[in-house]
Amino acid sequence: MEASLKVLSSSMQLDAKALWGKGQSRLNRADQQVAAWSILEQTCEDVDPTQATLIEAVEEGWWYAALLPDGRLSVAWFTDPDFVNKGLSQTVELWRARLKQPHFIARWIREAGFEAVAPPTLASAGTTWLETCAGENWAAVGDAAAAFDPLSSHGMTTALWTGHQAAEAMVRAIGGDRARLGDYAAQVKAGVETFRAQRKSF
Ligand SMILES: Cc1cc2nc3c(=O)[nH]c(=O)nc-3n(C[C@H](O)[C@H](O)[C@H](O)COP(=O)(O)OP(=O)(O)OC[C@H]3O[C@@H](n4cnc5c(N)ncnc54)[C@H](O)[C@@H]3O)c2cc1C
Repeated sequence: MEASLKVLSSSMQLDAKALWGKGQSRLNRADQQVAAWSILEQTCEDVDPTQATLIEAVEEGWWYAALLPDGRLSVAWFTDPDFVNKGLSQTVELWRARLKQPHFIARWIREAGFEAVAPPTLASAGTTWLETCAGENWAAVGDAAAAFDPLSSHGMTTALWTGHQAAEAMVRAIGGDRARLGDYAAQVKAGVETFRAQRKSF
């Protein structure tokens, strides 16, 4: 197959992965939370695992576990980077030991015969937001515009909502109505402020 290079030009930039926006506006960060997550396989098929989603607080953060439709278990540990063991993302034994630490989720894993077959993936799970997420000819959407603590369950809905709103604002801007991009940025900023105020009250 022959490779070919095409240069595309556009009067608008949409950033869905914090590539462009960071160069345009300051990135704010409320915390350094990270996640270690993996999908566990069920090695013992004699047990029907409980159809559930569990969230469990522990001394060093919190855990999330959810049974997937294909019978595997999605597990994530949310914590500060200081608590993450060196080599966790390379060593399955370290992850297996860590998976024993939550009380209820560890019991679920053990009793239904789930096992970690690979080390976890590490990902940023902090609350971050751009000071302004749109300008004259650009907009950021999803986590690139504002990423909320996953405990809030705002991630997917915000990604969908911002994608829709930013696309609509861009179409209007191309048609001459530049104010819509400013309105979009103001709406996202208001959402971030509401979230931060709610978080403080807990
Ligand atoms: C462990 C964990 C659990 C979570 N659980 C929940 C939950 O239960 N509910 C919830 O609502 N939210 C949850 N979130 C948050 C949620 O995942 C995000 O808010 C959401 O996925 C953001 O969507 P996005 O499209 O902005 O970014 P992403 O989903 O990160 O998508 C960005 C895409 O850009 C691609 N990309 C990266 N670099 C480039 C490049 N250079 N060029 C082209 N493409 C590129 C990536 O491959 C990726 O496909 C969780 C987050 C974490 C870390």
